[in-house]
Amino acid sequence: MVEIPYYLKAKLALVGINSILQLHRANYLKVYKWLKDIYPSLNHNALFDLYCLSNNLAINNLSPNSKQQILFQFKNTLPTYIPLDCEVISCGLSKAQEQADIAARSDEVPIGAVVYHNDEIISVGYNQTITKCNIMGHAEIIAISNAQSVLGNYRLTDCDLYVTVEPCLMCSGAIISSRIRRVIFGAIEPKTGAVISQFRVFDNSKVNHTTEAIGPINNELYSAKIQQFFQQKRADLD
Ligand SMILES: [Zn+2]
Repeated sequence: MVEIPYYLKAKLALVGINSILQLHRANYLKVYKWLKDIYPSLNHNALFDLYCLSNNLAINNLSPNSKQQILFQFKNTLPTYIPLDCEVISCGLSKAQEQADIAARSDEVPIGAVVYHNDEIISVGYNQTITKCNIMGHAEIIAISNAQSVLGNYRLTDCDLYVTVEPCLMCSGAIISSRIRRVIFGAIEPKTGAVISQFRVFDNSKVNHTTEAIGPINNELYSAKIQQFFQQKRADLD
C-alpha cells in the first residue's frame, strides 16, 4: 500500500487532500499547481511523487522517460489555482453587479467588474462604451487599467477579476496579457463571449500561462439582469 510521504502530508491537507483517493479524484497535475501556488519552491520531484501516489505506484521509481512524459503533460496543463470558496465567489460577483447597476443608470449595457488583489478589492469598472464613445470602455478594461495604476505594475499577478458577464475577445486578451490569476464570470454572453461561447481563448496553454477562467457561476441570475435592461429599453421605445 503506497502512503503519502511525510513532506507532502501537511501540504496536501492545506489544499483539502487527505487521502490518495482524494488526490486521484482531484487530478495530480491540478493538485501540483495548487501546491506550487502556496509553495513556489516545490520542485518536480513532488510532481513525480504525486503522479506515483495517484497511480498507486511505488515512489522514486519512475524511468527518465516517464518523468519526461509527466513534465510534458504538466507543461500542457491549463492554469489552475486553489479552488475558491463559494461565498467568496458570490461576494465578488455581487460587488461586480453593483458596478453593473451603475452602468444601467447611465443607460449603458449593465456589465460590471472588480479586481481583487489577494483578498482586497483594489479597483472597479463598469461599462462606459457609449459615455466614453470608446469601444475600450468595457468594464473589464477599466477595472484592469485602474488596478494597474493602483499597484504601479502592468502585471496583475495575485489578482482575480470578477465580471458579471463572460468577457469578449478584447477583454480576454487584456486579462491574459495583464497576467490576472483568475477570471470569474456570472453569465455567458452567447454572441460575443470568448471564454466558452464563441472562442475558448483561455484554453490554450501555449498562449495562456497564468489565467484560470471560472464560470458561468449563475447564468440565470446574471443574464436576467442584462435581459431586464433590454426589456426596459424596448418598453421605453414603445
Ligand atoms: Zn469586453
